[in-house]
Amino acid sequence: MRILREPKVYLVGKTRIEEEGFNAFLADNDLLWPTETDSPEGQRLIELFGRNCYMSYGQKAGSPDNETYLNNLLGFNRPGIAHGSVTEHISFNFMVVGAGRGFTHEQVRHRAGWAYSQLSTRYCDFEREKEDGTWDPGFCVPPLAQLSDEAREHYEACFRLAVVNYTKAYALISRDIREKFKDHLATMATRQQQTFIRKAARGAARDLLPIGTEAILGMTGNVRAIWNTIVLRAGEAAEPQIREVYVQVARIMEKELPGIFKGIQYPTCWDGTTCAVMPRDKV
Ligand SMILES: Cc1cc2nc3c(=O)[nH]c(=O)nc-3n(C[C@H](O)[C@H](O)[C@H](O)COP(=O)(O)OP(=O)(O)OC[C@H]3O[C@@H](n4cnc5c(N)ncnc54)[C@H](O)[C@@H]3O)c2cc1C
Repeated sequence: MRILREPKVYLVGKTRIEEEGFNAFLADNDLLWPTETDSPEGQRLIELFGRNCYMSYGQKAGSPDNETYLNNLLGFNRPGIAHGSVTEHISFNFMVVGAGRGFTHEQVRHRAGWAYSQLSTRYCDFEREKEDGTWDPGFCVPPLAQLSDEAREHYEACFRLAVVNYTKAYALISRDIREKFKDHLATMATRQQQTFIRKAARGAARDLLPIGTEAILGMTGNVRAIWNTIVLRAGEAAEPQIREVYVQVARIMEKELPGIFKGIQYPTCWDGTTCAVMPRDKV
């Protein structure tokens, strides 16, 4: 088993431009692209979808560059309503490791604009030692349990004990299924029996796994949803583990779409960790 002390967010994918189709759309419809072509692809796509609403190309284009266009679209440079719905066209794909099922339980409350795929506690092995090429179960120690060696060591010992208890329960449940459901198992091929018992026994034993069990979450959000979730989850009121995930997400987004994710502040929280404060609540 692995003991994990901090989460890590990987950006593994994002919405890209198909230059051929993008340029063919403009050329076939006699539309002149009015701004630079080297701004980030996500920002250029948002500009394309936004300009489409008023057909504001060529001479009709008000903003001379991508950043001015986005400032205007999203109301960064003026009072009044923002047209943030256009940012929903662009998505970013993340893998989050080193964060537990407490994190994922909070994350999946964000319904609008997000998609999730999470490591299964029925199909993954928590009862076996690591095998070559497979994954080794992780358990996450939250920041406030790392303030002293004594607290951290206690936490880690609890994780080890939980795995021992889980493994024993898994063995007993597997044995009982094998003994009590012989007739049902006899209808299956040997390999199928093994898979069936494992899945059923893991499903029953998993309630003994702690909330700190690493979840490994694949999550995809559109830009508007990501903004909203940074506001809620990177602030001081958020739980420190999910806050750290969202501080990392904020830094990724700042780099990826600097014309949108700007003016973010990173103050220090009461517990010495960092938060991220967005310039406003929604786009
Ligand atoms: C610090 C903190 C503490 C929390 N504590 C608790 C707690 O104790 N118990 C608990 O149960 N939850 C708690 N939550 C979760 C919280 O109540 C929300 O469920 C979660 O933050 C998702 O927020 P959201 O609804 O804005 O998210 P999303 O689902 O991401 O929605 C984004 C936005 O879309 C709009 N929207 C989405 N769905 C609808 C809809 N059906 N109808 C209308 N508009 C919609 C809203 O404007 C919403 O803000 C907590 C959250 C935070 C940040």
